[in-house]
Amino acid sequence: MTTLLIKNAQILVTMDDHRREIPGGGLFIRNGFIEQVGITSELPAVADEVVDLTGHVILPGMINTHHHFYQTLTRAVPAAQDANLFNWLKTLYPIWAKMTPDDIYISTKTALAELALSGCTTASDHLYLFPNGSKLDDEIIAAQEFGMRLHASRGSMSLGTSKGGLPPDSVVESEEEILKDSERLIHKYHQSGPGAMTSIVLAPCSPFSVTGELMRESAHLARKYGIHLHTHIAETQDEQDFCLKMFGHRPVAYMESLEWVGEDVWFAHSVHVNPDEIKVYAKTGCGVAHCPSSNMRLASGIAPLWEYMQAGVKVGLGVDGSASNDSSHMLAETRQAMFLARLRIGVPSSSLPPISDKPLITARDVLELATRGGASVLGRPDLGSLEAGKCADFISFNMDRLDFAGALHDPVAALVFCAPQKVDNNVVAGKFIVQDGQLTTLDLPSHITMHNQAASRLLRD
Ligand SMILES: [Zn+2]
Repeated sequence: MTTLLIKNAQILVTMDDHRREIPGGGLFIRNGFIEQVGITSELPAVADEVVDLTGHVILPGMINTHHHFYQTLTRAVPAAQDANLFNWLKTLYPIWAKMTPDDIYISTKTALAELALSGCTTASDHLYLFPNGSKLDDEIIAAQEFGMRLHASRGSMSLGTSKGGLPPDSVVESEEEILKDSERLIHKYHQSGPGAMTSIVLAPCSPFSVTGELMRESAHLARKYGIHLHTHIAETQDEQDFCLKMFGHRPVAYMESLEWVGEDVWFAHSVHVNPDEIKVYAKTGCGVAHCPSSNMRLASGIAPLWEYMQAGVKVGLGVDGSASNDSSHMLAETRQAMFLARLRIGVPSSSLPPISDKPLITARDVLELATRGGASVLGRPDLGSLEAGKCADFISFNMDRLDFAGALHDPVAALVFCAPQKVDNNVVAGKFIVQDGQLTTLDLPSHITMHNQAASRLLRD
């Protein structure tokens, strides 16, 4: 039994059902779970470890709902800098095909380091190509060593160019192999219930890289074991055209035809949807991983965030793969979500009614998406808010710094409005993975050197 007392926060943002923000707040934690939340004077005075966070804002740990960790190796690749999604992919597939198991392991730690320092405590990742003997295990082992909660998606591609798909045949797998490996991973790693550190997700990559048959078989397998399903949907106009031509459906209708709707499904992007498709998400419980930076970077479009929120669709935030962002900064993504939603009010959409008379999305709205929203998308009632019985996953920012000077009238909003900062502390399951601004489980300088060597080898050979 170990206990941790966190005390004297300037403000503790609970994100509970009443959205309480507690001045002078603290947490009493036992064995990785929160036992009490409240004003410091009302908490037990002693614990095995006591940390005074005077001057800090404490938030629930942020939850990243879409990423491709391996892409930290191919950020800002010159030939892919100014391309839309399909051209960007076609440029990068041959580079990714050179990755080794070590590259997956190294890039996972790089992405997790950046995520942890920017406020993320639970990351979802989507690994969908396995060159040169790579496995999802390489990423899971790295995350377990690092100490972050992981929803590891066993991605897949089976529709190569010879069968009308987008990726080269060299990076696709057989469907039999994909399903067999998926089942192996579920048995080996999947944890369920409160406090799960490693969860497996099944995630055929996109309509243009897998067959409908693999989507359907993956759904059956996931439901047999009660695990979640994830894919990219309605990301670009090109994808919509591809689906209409190949399958005779728009992307969301195609998903419905494959039994890919329900509380256990979440989609990355979902930019190109109409009002009826938003209703399908709301009615069936599909979640959305909103990735504003990637959507801007690849000129994909603006997702209808406001409409999703009004319709009661579950929405979380995702930094997306680091080759289309080109960052894994969770707080920066939160800020982008607020700005892009506001920008959209001034930009008419061809498929959605105007929303110019609606209120602006607030800093607290987007912080809610990054915490509670992400937890609901991943199906994690034990995460997303600071309440008794929930996982002890939280972050803190020291507000006494240049970047927040003059913004302390509302420190919580300052975190989003001012330039995105790094956390001072990041705690997962009651353990510090960032303490006083430093990672506790990774030697960052030597790791960066190793990562850069791996990245330059991929581009050189
Ligand atoms: Zn993606």
